[in-house]
Amino acid sequence: LRKIVPAATRRLPPSFATFAALGVWCSAALVARLPLALWLAAAAPPLASLGLSMRAERRRRVALNLRYLSPTGFRTAIAAAEVMLPPAAVLTPEEVARSLDNQCLKLAKGPGKDIAQGLITLRFLPLIRGRPPLDLMAPDTRRQFLERRLQAVADHRVREPLRRVEQALVRLARQATVIGYYTDPRPRAAHGYVAFRDRAHRQPELPGSSSRPLAVDQPEHVSATRIEADVVVIGSGAGGAIAAHRLAEAGRSVVVLERGPHVRAQSYTEDEAAMLGRLFGPGARQLSRDFRLQVLQGSCVGGSTVVNNGVCFDLPEHVLREWNDPAGLDAGLDASLLAESFERVRRLIGVRSQDASPQNGAARKLEEGVQALGLDRGPYRFDAFDANIVDCVGCGLCNIGCAFGAKQSMLESVLPFAQRHFGDRVRIIAEADALRIRRRGRRATGVDCRLSDGRRLRVTAETVIVAAGALHSSALLQRSGIGGRSVGRNLTYNLAVPLMAEFDEDINSFDGLQMSHYLQPPPERGFIIESWAQPIAAHATVLGGWFEQHFETMRRYPSVAAAGVVVGSERGGSWVRHSPVARRPTFAFNATRRDVSRLVDGTKLLGEVFFAAGAKRLIPSTYRGRPLDSPDELARLGDGIRDGTDFVLSSSHPQGGNAVSRRRENGVLDERLTVHGTDNVHVCDASSFPSSITVNPQLTVMAMSDYAAGLI
Ligand SMILES: Cc1cc2nc3c(=O)[nH]c(=O)nc-3n(C[C@H](O)[C@H](O)[C@H](O)COP(=O)(O)OP(=O)(O)OC[C@H]3O[C@@H](n4cnc5c(N)ncnc54)[C@H](O)[C@@H]3O)c2cc1C
Ligand code: SF4
Repeated sequence: LRKIVPAATRRLPPSFATFAALGVWCSAALVARLPLALWLAAAAPPLASLGLSMRAERRRRVALNLRYLSPTGFRTAIAAAEVMLPPAAVLTPEEVARSLDNQCLKLAKGPGKDIAQGLITLRFLPLIRGRPPLDLMAPDTRRQFLERRLQAVADHRVREPLRRVEQALVRLARQATVIGYYTDPRPRAAHGYVAFRDRAHRQPELPGSSSRPLAVDQPEHVSATRIEADVVVIGSGAGGAIAAHRLAEAGRSVVVLERGPHVRAQSYTEDEAAMLGRLFGPGARQLSRDFRLQVLQGSCVGGSTVVNNGVCFDLPEHVLREWNDPAGLDAGLDASLLAESFERVRRLIGVRSQDASPQNGAARKLEEGVQALGLDRGPYRFDAFDANIVDCVGCGLCNIGCAFGAKQSMLESVLPFAQRHFGDRVRIIAEADALRIRRRGRRATGVDCRLSDGRRLRVTAETVIVAAGALHSSALLQRSGIGGRSVGRNLTYNLAVPLMAEFDEDINSFDGLQMSHYLQPPPERGFIIESWAQPIAAHATVLGGWFEQHFETMRRYPSVAAAGVVVGSERGGSWVRHSPVARRPTFAFNATRRDVSRLVDGTKLLGEVFFAAGAKRLIPSTYRGRPLDSPDELARLGDGIRDGTDFVLSSSHPQGGNAVSRRRENGVLDERLTVHGTDNVHVCDASSFPSSITVNPQLTVMAMSDYAAGLI
């Protein structure tokens, strides 16, 4: 202490010292029960000093030429990079922090803000353990501190809720470094990533950027404060676009309100952070309340279909049976009408097999392993995905938007088709955030929304279609006081856990269609394995392992294959609520025992497949991220896993929250997908699913939307 305290106080930022002084003073004043006047008089000096220190922090920010991070966050990012990266790294810690500052600006509102705030908390994490702030520790001590926290969390030696905070912050130290480092062109090239524009062998195939014409009103095009239509659709993704198309086809005038921007394919770039910021908005990194589940959702005209992989599956028959079971979920869906909807949507968005699309190295390894183990025949199924992708050129960038018009997202297909065929009947307004559904008794009368320039717009309509996606649709219904207490309950996810496999030779997984093949075991095993590859920065953020182990695996990026295990989570304790303070949905998730055992089971099978294909090492997506060097070690994978918190979980497929069920106590929507207790509020998106479906959901979302729109 004699060493730490003087060093710490000398280098503490004034803001911290002031906060501490203010805290001590307030506690003393409370204990002494001072009268208000004395309170105010005595509070003035610390408050003034707080103001001065904030000004000083602003000045330091200008002096450091920071664009997004605070000086405190910047120093913490340098401190993290100093210990996360080995000396062989091609950027200095300060360069990493500066790059992170730029990336946060691009990611802005959502993830950028979370990282910037998280870094400040990370700085002070050691104080809980009686240690000085992170950046004031010597690098060796800092490294030791992070390693010990990491170990304690992995061994469950820390109690909740502290465990979740330490787990999140130690991860942030790595993620901040990784984002700063692998988004810079120098490490990208040094680690073997070749940008698509530089891949000579693909160039002759390039069709050039393309996109179908689509008229979208920006806020500046909307001068009225009220507009009218037969139907107002909230959200322009998979569910919203299909409903708009079907209802316009039936002769109704439709206004589609989309919270995100209209980003034309011609403006897409390979800058991962910039595209995440533009196409995902704040939804790029939504974290559950305990920071342990990351949920991804697109937020732009076309919704998540603009950033998804186009993979299409029909709703598995056993899932529909379970949904329709009168003694169970009792959805009451008409199976033959629904089958017609699937067929109609498949035709509309041009679903086809991707067996002729450019396959990437990871998919080839998956195929080799599957064949070596004889898993390409019953009861297993190995095949190329069906997807709404035509003439893919194999850039491998599906999740940051297809610049070549190959992926038939809603932006490229259904919305332009609707305007081409039904003209003025389909009006799309971008950057229009639906705040509340207005209603009188059982009937909704329209929607109030806020445009991105701050003005309000009211759309009055006979019919309201809620299609803001899982999480956001429930939050909207809650804000509007519609749907009762079941709204937001029974949220489920297709949980995704990647497994990385290192091979001796370069396989360049980044080159080719991101997702092309899948291995489907019998349904009772409850998971599916999907080929998967990512450009370098996204790959680095999901790769397991720590410190130089992570760096060394990234050095061999071209020889690493990945595939994902996807598990549909069980219905249970997961919920979403609108948070008026954060002004976004707050959600909670707990993996059940069954979810965890399926994740372990799926990872083991995938590991066997990769070893059979010749992998020399596997890196599982567990928090510990310890590599597995042989099939024997793989068999013991489950030993270190106590519960879902030991995996690094994410989901791009949130489902439910407004489940369809004929019984009101079981769900929010009736069998026509109309909100119970209303006449004209219908939900046409992934939130209507009564349970998770394990396979990729977009086709089911679209078919359910088509089905519901046909009944309106
Ligand atoms: C990275 C990624 C990859 C994926 N890959 C696949 C895949 O290959 N195959 C597959 O089947 N599925 C995939 N999915 C999932 C699939 O895209 C979604 O399940 C599907 O798009 C859900 O449709 P939706 O209509 O419910 O919501 P979305 O398509 O997400 O659309 C919702 C829209 O509503 C908007 N919105 C939200 N709140 C408001 C508001 N208050 N006011 C106005 N607008 C609002 C959002 O901005 C968004 O644009 C992927 C998803 C992601 C994120
Ligand atoms: S890999 Fe994806 S983004 Fe690239 S052309 Fe094919 S579909 Fe489009």
